[in-house]
Amino acid sequence: MQKSDVGLIGLAVMGQNLALNINDKGYSISVYNRSDSKTREFISGPANKRENLLATYSIEDFVASLEKPRKIILMVKAGEVVDIFIEKLLPHLEEGDIIIDGGNSYFKDTIRRTKELEKKSILFIGMGVSGGEEGARKGPSLMPGGNPQAWPQVKNILTKIAAKTPDGTACCNWVGNDGAGHYVKMVHNGIEYGDMQLIAETYHIMKDILALSYEEMADTFEKWNKGILNSYLIEITADILRHKDTDGNPLVEKILDAAGQKGTGKWTGIEALDKGVPVSLIVEAVFARAISSFKEERELASTKLSTNRQIYRGDKQHLLDSLEAALIAAKATSYAQGFMLLREAAKAYDWQLDFANIATLWRAGCIIRSSFLDSIIEAYKESPDIPNMLLAPYFANLITKKQDQWREVIATAVQHAIPVPALSSALSFLDSYKSNRLPANLIQAQRDYFGAHTYERTDKPRGQFFHTNWTGEG
Ligand code: NAP
Repeated sequence: MQKSDVGLIGLAVMGQNLALNINDKGYSISVYNRSDSKTREFISGPANKRENLLATYSIEDFVASLEKPRKIILMVKAGEVVDIFIEKLLPHLEEGDIIIDGGNSYFKDTIRRTKELEKKSILFIGMGVSGGEEGARKGPSLMPGGNPQAWPQVKNILTKIAAKTPDGTACCNWVGNDGAGHYVKMVHNGIEYGDMQLIAETYHIMKDILALSYEEMADTFEKWNKGILNSYLIEITADILRHKDTDGNPLVEKILDAAGQKGTGKWTGIEALDKGVPVSLIVEAVFARAISSFKEERELASTKLSTNRQIYRGDKQHLLDSLEAALIAAKATSYAQGFMLLREAAKAYDWQLDFANIATLWRAGCIIRSSFLDSIIEAYKESPDIPNMLLAPYFANLITKKQDQWREVIATAVQHAIPVPALSSALSFLDSYKSNRLPANLIQAQRDYFGAHTYERTDKPRGQFFHTNWTGEG
């Protein structure tokens, strides 16, 4: 019997769509799922009568059906399920076989798995996959990292099934060793949290300060989608705001304002704290979801801690223009923070990360896809070693131009008691980042006062530490 080019385990929504995508691109594929019922549903449903798509019902049959070296994609629940399948596969695999974990695995698990499997001569890839169900089916953004020996053997398949940028470049390229691919996916998801929170804050201002109708808000996002902000998330926001429930009222108004999360934004925040990188906007976006989930408590607080909300008396179009400028500037700052984290991760984990390449992976197929990424790609291509993308001429000019409007939006939001944690934390980051003197000197003095932690002096070389007896007591 003809052997399959690829094998895929896990026939939930992502696995099914990825299997169909791979099969569409001319590759033969074997599939397996823990529950046979799902395999049967798949094979008699979406995969009905497909050629070169083989359903298998045991790990032995699955592995035996694959061309060597075997290429096995895991699209299963992240966490211990990945280890369970690796353990099940190992007795049947041979030296040089490749396992690709396409789930949202924690990058430290991927580092561990790459190392453990290398000892057994199995090549492991941890691959970030973004774009949800539609991306998996039509072309996802793929972020593979792991054992570099595996890459040449899977490069053709993966680049063929991946999304393509407007100029035809595949949104799939090697990211780096061991956990690099899953790390980049984690930061992608963190940036996605940031983008969504920024858009939600602009919607809040439009709705509760400007009192725009849902049609007016949808029109505004549609207009913004034709400019610098052109992106998937802005596009779907316009669609969502226009969507009516069966009674003709906007559906979004009826959706409970308590946002869920699966943890990748939180991982980004934890990593940022761990590495000491000020990724404040993503962390605020995670906290914004957290406070939203305190629904009952917020309802109580709204009766006890009320504010007299003012009516906006300014020029609506003027504030809308400023809102667009603020969103652009804050988005640029968010991406700059994400790339700062990647830069520090590259040092800490010994990865050679190519930032233009990473921005290209996100250009299409994924949730944060946008034409905005073209400017980031260009900035990093021009100066790959630039300390921060905000220092690239394009972004430095952009931020300088939009800054006053950004400040105006935040001031207006604060006056009207509308929370803007992401918009405002991004501006505070920017103001800190571009300050050649921060009040950290006072903090150092306090630390030295109560804990003899010492300080460096501006009038002495760095690396010399001083302590003062602040009270004069012996
Ligand atoms: P999922 O709900 O995360 O996982 C379901 C799959 O895992 C099924 O094949 C299920 O088998 C298997 N599974 C669960 N527990 C198991 C266990 N204890 N032992 C063996 N198998 C087990 O599926 P998904 O949403 O398609 O996502 C797959 C992966 O892609 C996940 O890591 C997810 O985080 C990642 N991802 C998802 C999206 C998305 O939009 N959904 C986007 C990007 C990445 P049974 O059918 O037998 O239960």
